[in-house]
Amino acid sequence: MAAFYAGQKSFRLEEVVPVAPGPGEVQIDVAYCGVCGTDMHVFHGDMDARVTTHRIIGHEMSGVIAAVGAGVEHIRTGQRVVVRPLDHCGDCPACRAGHSHICHNLKFLGLDSNGAFQQKWTVPAHTVHVLPQNLDLKLAAMVEPLAVACHDVRRGRIAAGEIALVIGGGPIGMLIALVAAHAGANAIVAEINENRLAIARKLELETINPKDGAIGPAIMARTDGRGADVVFEVSGSQAGVEAMTAAAAARGRIVMVAINNKRPPVDLFQFFWRELEMLGARVYEPEDYNRAIELLESGAVDVAPLITDIRGLDEIEQAFTGLEGNSNAMKTLIQVGAGT
Ligand SMILES: [Zn+2]
Ligand SMILES: [Zn+2]
Repeated sequence: MAAFYAGQKSFRLEEVVPVAPGPGEVQIDVAYCGVCGTDMHVFHGDMDARVTTHRIIGHEMSGVIAAVGAGVEHIRTGQRVVVRPLDHCGDCPACRAGHSHICHNLKFLGLDSNGAFQQKWTVPAHTVHVLPQNLDLKLAAMVEPLAVACHDVRRGRIAAGEIALVIGGGPIGMLIALVAAHAGANAIVAEINENRLAIARKLELETINPKDGAIGPAIMARTDGRGADVVFEVSGSQAGVEAMTAAAAARGRIVMVAINNKRPPVDLFQFFWRELEMLGARVYEPEDYNRAIELLESGAVDVAPLITDIRGLDEIEQAFTGLEGNSNAMKTLIQVGAGT
């Protein structure tokens, strides 16, 4: 069974003949697959030109190896795995410089080719990370967004004792705050939704609500005028872009995580005045996946409170519809196959 994105906020469920793994490929029995913000953009039709309207999407998955193609040595049937859904060309300047995650010709599995909202998913073996056998597959479906957070925190060069401000308390923002806190930072989440703030507090994160006053002055007040050593802009809002420069400490680092639809005006004056640094952060590298798996296995980062709904594959359209404009929801998982 597979769920095809069929355009106009709809999915079509179809029985499909599973694709047998070719040389260098593996086939996975998908257990769970999370709904990502990008998937919501597809659902809204914003990405029809790229994704087309007969595509199986989904990439935040966990599963079990069902079959292994010729020449795959290091992966065995029955292993629990996640997929790092990036397929790079290997030949462009970015790839040659060792930055294949930002390959000039990057293909994203689940957007540019079929993804994980199907029971048997065949992928290149180089995208697979093997999980510890005892890791819960529901939690493992959080590896992909957690790897995003690990990458963002690594780009921000967070050190113990620093103040990390995360603007935007959705799933990625929360995960960044958790990873930063685990690295010894004092993590503060700025978010306007009170339900999300309640989840943040349950995760023992500090919070501020911009509805109670502008973020910049609030951070300055909390830090004796020092500001945040690292600011993560995850909100994708103009208010967030304004706050990121207003709240940064002298020589602070700003990590741009959000995907903005329009080019937002940025206060460059603050970059000069306080010698700020701006860092882009996009997806993840293999080491970020390894780190995310480690953090889940050791229990260092508790992602369970972020999973707010689990639906069957037959309910995928309702699950997506339910997430529309619902900022109380955090992460919805689709149970694709027999998961444990
Ligand atoms: Zn995602
Ligand atoms: Zn490339």
